[in-house]
Amino acid sequence: MSQYLDYDATLDCVHCGLCLPHCPTYQETGRETSSPRGRIYLMRGVAEGSLELDAQVVGEMYFCLACRACESACPSGVRYGALVEGMRAEIDARGARSIVTRTTQRFTFRHLLPSRRLMMLLGTFLRFYQNSGMQAALRRSNVLRVAGRLAEAEAMLPKLSPAYRPPVQVPAKGRRRGRVALFSGCLMPEFFPSVNRATIEVLIQNGFEVEIPAQQTCCGALHLHSGDPDGAARLLRRNRQAFRIDDVDAIIMNSAGCGAALKDSGDRLAEKIRDISEFLYEAEWVKPTEPVPMRVAYDDPCHLLHAQKIHEAPRALLRSIPELELVDLPGASDCCGAAGIYSFTQPEMSKTLLDRKLRALQEIAPDAVATGNPGCLLQLGAGVRKAGLRIDVVHPVELLARAYL
Ligand code: SF4
Ligand code: SF4
Repeated sequence: MSQYLDYDATLDCVHCGLCLPHCPTYQETGRETSSPRGRIYLMRGVAEGSLELDAQVVGEMYFCLACRACESACPSGVRYGALVEGMRAEIDARGARSIVTRTTQRFTFRHLLPSRRLMMLLGTFLRFYQNSGMQAALRRSNVLRVAGRLAEAEAMLPKLSPAYRPPVQVPAKGRRRGRVALFSGCLMPEFFPSVNRATIEVLIQNGFEVEIPAQQTCCGALHLHSGDPDGAARLLRRNRQAFRIDDVDAIIMNSAGCGAALKDSGDRLAEKIRDISEFLYEAEWVKPTEPVPMRVAYDDPCHLLHAQKIHEAPRALLRSIPELELVDLPGASDCCGAAGIYSFTQPEMSKTLLDRKLRALQEIAPDAVATGNPGCLLQLGAGVRKAGLRIDVVHPVELLARAYL
């Protein structure tokens, strides 16, 4: 039996196969073992002891994007996301994954992401790297070509603007309707500072005082996805101490992956977690008046659509912006291939899925594509740049903030 995998939950799968056509890795390979049903079969076999936890099983668990499209399709309510996370933890508990990979990931996730100081240092270095001419020189030289995965990571780097470090308290504008806390995330302040700025702006324009607790830390989503539930639990305890749960109406998230991880935590904190689009939609947002004349496509982050079941709220917010035309993106509900660190660990499949998304974007040629997750922003941004498409990649809240000014 298993320490981390919920064996009884694997029995909820009745093998109907209705999830198969929705699974990106099954669509691309046609292999049963690369489908949700096949993977659950493998998990069950390992838990029962009839299957070895060998390289093939480990490979299939990490070939999965954990996008949870199968959960949306499953009529039996199989909680696949929790199963694959449990199985990955089981893999590490049994030492079945390469020690180098495990140690590198643990070090990065446990020591870099939760440290505001180290993330600030990283951001400062990367801005210097871009602005000093070092990036341009390296890209012209052959050095990056031999750097393998590091070069792929470098290519994903968006043009960084100065970091945004908000005060711990921002008062509401106009009639005060309540108080919320902002979960500022570990990537957003350094890589997408304009998203946190826009989130705060939109909230105060809607009459909400915003507090940004200084002691908050990383949400633990990447830890959970890479088989480290103990690391995630430690961060959850720190966040529970940082947020004054009883004094705020909601804890606002602008990253779908972080929101899903905290909502699924089962912790008291989870009751207050709201995605920014969900919160504004429920709070009947103030309708913006400033025109933003753009054709915009919306791409669903998997952890907003499949994990949090949020489909209409971000679209409704975008539709409320004067002169903004919301255009349908074919395959908007399909994974873009970002999936946490999937683009680094499974670059080929990640690229296949990104190419599908880029073809759809080319077909409808919007001025911008909006999506509410930093991983998707990075992935789509890199894809659009590489393909030479003139399409802005933005968070929906950035467009809304423009329409309030
Ligand atoms: S999480 Fe996504 S990739 Fe993994 S089995 Fe489900 S649909 Fe397939
Ligand atoms: S749809 Fe649900 S019950 Fe059917 S095979 Fe997929 S996971 Fe199992």
